[in-house]
Amino acid sequence: MADRSFLDWPFFEQRHRDWADRLDAWCAKNLPVDHSDVDAACRDLVARLGEAGFLKPTAVDTANPGPLDVRTLCLTRETLARHDGLADFAFAMQGLGTGAISLFGTPEQQQWLDRTRAGKALSAFALSEPRSGSDVANMDMAATRDGGDYVLSGEKTWISNGGIADLYTVFARTGEAPGARGISAFLVPADTPGLEVAERLDVIAPHPLARLAFNDVRVPASAMIGKPGDGFKIAMSVLDVFRSTVGAAALGFARRALDETLDRAGSRELFGAPLFDLQMVQGHIAEMALDIDAAALLIYRAAWTKDMGAPRVTREAAMAKLFATDRAQEVIDKAVQIHGGDGVRRGHIVESLYREIRALRIYEGASDVQKVVIARQTVK
Ligand SMILES: Cc1cc2nc3c(=O)[nH]c(=O)nc-3n(C[C@H](O)[C@H](O)[C@H](O)COP(=O)(O)OP(=O)(O)OC[C@H]3O[C@@H](n4cnc5c(N)ncnc54)[C@H](O)[C@@H]3O)c2cc1C
Repeated sequence: MADRSFLDWPFFEQRHRDWADRLDAWCAKNLPVDHSDVDAACRDLVARLGEAGFLKPTAVDTANPGPLDVRTLCLTRETLARHDGLADFAFAMQGLGTGAISLFGTPEQQQWLDRTRAGKALSAFALSEPRSGSDVANMDMAATRDGGDYVLSGEKTWISNGGIADLYTVFARTGEAPGARGISAFLVPADTPGLEVAERLDVIAPHPLARLAFNDVRVPASAMIGKPGDGFKIAMSVLDVFRSTVGAAALGFARRALDETLDRAGSRELFGAPLFDLQMVQGHIAEMALDIDAAALLIYRAAWTKDMGAPRVTREAAMAKLFATDRAQEVIDKAVQIHGGDGVRRGHIVESLYREIRALRIYEGASDVQKVVIARQTVK
């Protein structure tokens, strides 16, 4: 049983504790799912999470608009990740894929949110390109004005939910200014002619992922989210909300690794005593517990600060993501070590955690990029 004492921290309100309890009970009944067909599994997870009401925090409620609650997003990702990485992924993409619409969308664009929050439509966030991942302001994809329309042409890659999403938030160069100030955001329904899956991408922890081709994809000017040239600012605002939640997913993986390690260290006998009695093992466990608590403090500090109305939490979110993802990698590595040979057996839970954690140190800003962000914010 994972440590839940952190829920008593003053960052949370009773509604957060109740939510975490309800979700944990749902997860215990419904997760993990079969990962052999990740497309089918993700569609099913989104439908079932939506039906149970757990996708509501991912986007603005159009009937009762208010800010996204970052603590609920983090608690949800942490809890889902502890039970099943694919469930966390399915939840996370409903938020990331619609974040721009929640924050900057018109009432007409926000009609999509009723469907994504109910698990009736899947969303994706299409920012990265083959030539511009970290260097995102250098993107090539063009959106050219043609009468009352924009025509999008170019490629996006590493797009999570690519191929199964119903709508894409797409960033493209509209050219108001060079670099970051010449990018705009668009809402592109998946069935728009010219939008094609060019390649499905296979990674060490498989989930729906694709390279997308935009072959003169025509959308009305009303598909633009926010103002012309504001796309980079919009992308950064979305990441400002969701970056701490990547840390929260890492925290969920780390907590699961510690739980598995405690079970193993208590039940496995070595040299006539439980593995736990070896002091070197105790040292590893102490470091795992410390990393987990420190990561949780940074994550919920960032989430709480945002929820209390801070316009930006760039520094706090970067610290939370960097520390939680890097330390979760270490925690999981220790779990593999303490499991001995079983730790590297394909299909063992700590083996899958070892694969699941790696990409979190790369996407939504690689660890190195977070260090640059923290340094710049610190020198300010
Ligand atoms: C599993 C997965 C899912 C993804 N999902 C999405 C998605 O849904 N939507 C989307 O738009 N993108 C997505 N991405 C793309 C992701 O955001 C990029 O992979 C990431 O931004 C890094 O870009 P890159 O792969 O082009 O690496 P590069 O930009 O080539 O960077 C390579 C490495 O260089 C180092 N580096 C980069 N910049 C700096 C710096 N300033 N200082 C020091 N070192 C630096 C880092 O170590 C980095 O990992 C996903 C990626 C993965 C792996």
